[in-house]
Amino acid sequence: MTTPTAPAPGPPLSMIGPDFPFPYDVFRHHPAGIGAVPRDVQGTRVAVIGAGLSGTIVAYELARMGLRPVVYEAERIGGRIRSEAFEGHPGTVAEMGAMRFPPSSTTLFGYLDEVGLRTVPFPNPLAPATPDTVIDLKGVTVHGRALDDLPEQFRRVARGWESALQDGAHIDALRSAIAARDPAAIAALWRPLIERYDDTTFYRFLVDSPHLRSFADRELFGQVGFGTGGWDTDFSNSVLEVLRVVATGADEDHRAIVGGSQQLPARLWSQPVPGVRHWAAGTSVADLHPGGVPRTAAIALRRTRPGEIVVHDADGGREAFAAVVHTAPVWLLLSTIRCDETLSPRRAAVRAHDRARPLAPTWTLTDARRD
Ligand SMILES: Cc1cc2nc3c(=O)[nH]c(=O)nc-3n(C[C@H](O)[C@H](O)[C@H](O)COP(=O)(O)OP(=O)(O)OC[C@H]3O[C@@H](n4cnc5c(N)ncnc54)[C@H](O)[C@@H]3O)c2cc1C
Repeated sequence: MTTPTAPAPGPPLSMIGPDFPFPYDVFRHHPAGIGAVPRDVQGTRVAVIGAGLSGTIVAYELARMGLRPVVYEAERIGGRIRSEAFEGHPGTVAEMGAMRFPPSSTTLFGYLDEVGLRTVPFPNPLAPATPDTVIDLKGVTVHGRALDDLPEQFRRVARGWESALQDGAHIDALRSAIAARDPAAIAALWRPLIERYDDTTFYRFLVDSPHLRSFADRELFGQVGFGTGGWDTDFSNSVLEVLRVVATGADEDHRAIVGGSQQLPARLWSQPVPGVRHWAAGTSVADLHPGGVPRTAAIALRRTRPGEIVVHDADGGREAFAAVVHTAPVWLLLSTIRCDETLSPRRAAVRAHDRARPLAPTWTLTDARRD
C-alpha cells in the first residue's frame, strides 16, 4: 500500500467536491468495475484526445471495459505531469509539472497502487518530512521544524485561522460528511455556505472573523498561510474556492511519487491492464496502438452524421468514431482544434440557457449556477 493510513478511524477524507459529491473512489473499487458495455460493442474504437493523466486513465479504463481507445497526443505522454531526468544521476528527477498529491486524492492513490508506484511525504513548509522551514519576512528570519518552534504571533495566526474555519464554515463537520461520503449531510452543510459566501472574498472572510481582527495577523497569514504556503494572492478570490480546498484536504500531507510523477501516466500507458475484458490477458493500452505510440495531434472534430464524429489529425489522417473523449483543456476546443460548435459543451450549455431564458436585468450568477 502506498496510501497513508487514515489519521482517524473510519473512511479517509476524499477529494469529493462538496458541489458534486460523487464518490469516484468507491465507484472505482466496485467489484463490477467502473462500467461495462454489451458484448456486441466490445472492441469498438473510441477516440481519446490528450495523453495527460486524464487521457491515460480514460484509455486504461476503456481498454479494461473491452473498448479500443485510440489516443491522440500533440506532445508527450504525461502532459502537465512531466519529470525530467539528470544525465549521470540515475534516480534523480526534476518535476516540471505536478509533484505533490494529497492522500485525499484516494482515486489517484488507487491508480498508484495498481501500477506499483510508491509515494513518500513531500517536504512542504513545517511538514514532518521537512528538516527546516525558513521564513524570511520583512527582514526577520525565523527557522523551525514545527509550528511550536515559531514565535507566538505565528501560532496565534494558526489558531485564528483554525477557529475562523470552525466558526465560519463548520469545517470539521463538513470534512466528516465528506469522509462519510454522505451527500445529504454534505449538502446540508455546504448549501448555506454557498448562500452566505457567494459574493464574499477570502479577505472579507478573514476580516469578518473575530479570530483574525488584527491587520498584522492577516498580513502574516497572507504571507505564510497554511499547507503549501502563503495565500495572499487568493485574497481577492471567492472564499468558497478556499473552503473547497480546505474541506477536501487538498493542501495537506502531500506526498511525492518516488522516481517521478510521470511514471504514473507512462505505466498506465505501457503496463498490462488488470481485469481487461475482450482483449487478451496482459494487454496494455500501448499494445492497442500501432508501434505502441499515440497518434499525433487532433486538429479538427466534425460531426458528419448523428452518432459519428470524425477526428482529423496533424498527419492528414481522419477517422470516424462513435464517441470522442476530449481530455485536453477545454479552451483548445475553442481556439486550437477546429470543432463544430455543437460539440463544445460549454458553448452549447450557454446557448441552451440563453434560449430558455434571455438575459434580463434580474438575472444573477446564482441563478445561472442553479440552472
Ligand atoms: C507547473 C505545474 C505544477 C503543478 N503541480 C501540481 C501538483 O503539485 N499537484 C497536482 O495535483 N497538480 C499539479 N498541477 C496540475 C496537474 O499537473 C494537472 O491538473 C494535470 O496534470 C492535468 O492533467 P490532464 O490530463 O487533465 O491535462 P494535461 O496534462 O494538460 O493533458 C492534456 C494533454 O492533451 C494534449 N493535447 C493538447 N492539444 C491536443 C490536441 N490538439 N491533440 C491531441 N492532444 C492534445 C497535451 O499535449 C497534453 O498532453 C501542476 C501543473 C503545472 C503546470
